[in-house]
Amino acid sequence: MVVHGTIVSNMPELPEVETVKRLLASQVLGKHIMNVDVLRSKNIEGDAKVFSESLIDCTIESISRRGKFLIFHFDNNLVLISHLRMEGKYFYYDKITKPSKHDLVLFGFEDNTSLFYNDTRRFGTMKLSTEDKYLKEPPLSNLGPDANTDVSVKYLKGCLKNKRIPIKQALLDQSIIAGLGNIYVDEVLFLSKIHPLTPANRVDEKSLKLVLANAKIVLNKAIDAGGSTIKSYHPGKGIDGNFQSELNVYGKKNEICPICGATFRKIFVNGRGTTFCPHCQKNVAMPHVVAITGPIGSGKSLASEYFRKHGYDVFNADACVHALYERKDVQERVLKLVKELNGKFDKKALKDALVKNKKEKQKLEDYLYRLVDEEAFNFIKSHKEKDKVVLEVPLLFQSHICDYADEIYILSIDKKIQKERLQSRNINIDEYLKLNESYYLQEDKKKATAVISNDGDVASLYSKLDKIICDK
Ligand SMILES: [Zn+2]
Repeated sequence: MVVHGTIVSNMPELPEVETVKRLLASQVLGKHIMNVDVLRSKNIEGDAKVFSESLIDCTIESISRRGKFLIFHFDNNLVLISHLRMEGKYFYYDKITKPSKHDLVLFGFEDNTSLFYNDTRRFGTMKLSTEDKYLKEPPLSNLGPDANTDVSVKYLKGCLKNKRIPIKQALLDQSIIAGLGNIYVDEVLFLSKIHPLTPANRVDEKSLKLVLANAKIVLNKAIDAGGSTIKSYHPGKGIDGNFQSELNVYGKKNEICPICGATFRKIFVNGRGTTFCPHCQKNVAMPHVVAITGPIGSGKSLASEYFRKHGYDVFNADACVHALYERKDVQERVLKLVKELNGKFDKKALKDALVKNKKEKQKLEDYLYRLVDEEAFNFIKSHKEKDKVVLEVPLLFQSHICDYADEIYILSIDKKIQKERLQSRNINIDEYLKLNESYYLQEDKKKATAVISNDGDVASLYSKLDKIICDK
């Protein structure tokens, strides 16, 4: 399934496997196996012939689950461990049925019913073991406790204490906790307000408690909903999962956070697509972020300079855009977006073209916001938690870069004074105002830590900032 150009994994997670287990239990408990056909021996660990021969004349006594593994228990001490991996499914038939293309292992029962293991991606595995051994040998011996059971915070803390990998990666590690996959880790981290890139050993005990509690809640809720999160995953013939409508964050890139109104972002953590709220989910290992915005002439760079003197590193969005315009790939994209440039990149002509064409201006801004956002995020990431950084961004709210900020300061200025300042800077005011009608909306003002009016001189601006910094 392709959504927004990215591959969405269909891998069943713990709730889906639990749903499969319950469904199978209702279908095949007590069934006596008459024949086993392995149509693709690669999915069997060990000898396929031994596998099928061993299972003949066995009766299925019970089915259990550990993490994402299904375990069939037989009446003669044998155990079959099955991992569905990406697309594995079991189909039960109550009459004699011919296998289809993706049916890989067939179990025929005494009463002429059958169970087919079907796997379009062919990644699933099956392995035979015995009751006394199966928990003591791989793969099950490598599993941590199930995420939907009572796991102690002491245990989890101990596992993570020397791990500097991102918390998301650590929670996906089945040897630490079993049963959390990509979807539910995103959900759990969102509910626990933890940034997925936070180093695992930096997540405090209180937050780990939340992780464990939320993991249990989310997984059990999904199990109650009948498993599947995933559109194309069907635990059995004719059965759909219902839980996907309840997902808060997974797969919701660019949607609005229901808690704070920020825009969900998507990043990759150890290669796995990860969606999170940049505002609700703070990374304790990242620096303190101050954002400064305001219209032209309002004194943004003076304010940045002030913070620089107080030990902050400054990211300047305007400078970033200038640097981006130097890049060949950016120039090429701009030429595609702004037809009027006729294939020749020129900043002055670009400005003129944008004044005339609002639609193209919007498209170009959307493109540039994305790039500046990425640069701003990289800038923040490149600093450590003890650092302090300032993001100076004229279009702070439109670009959504505001979501990264711990504090936001809007500089405001009287229109008349603004005009005077711009005149002294030799800026064509009318042209500029045409290009920048809305610096921020009234509703954005609510997000600000403070609105600082800067109608006076530098000294009075700095004394206002002094007050803010000292009050902290
Ligand atoms: Zn949020």
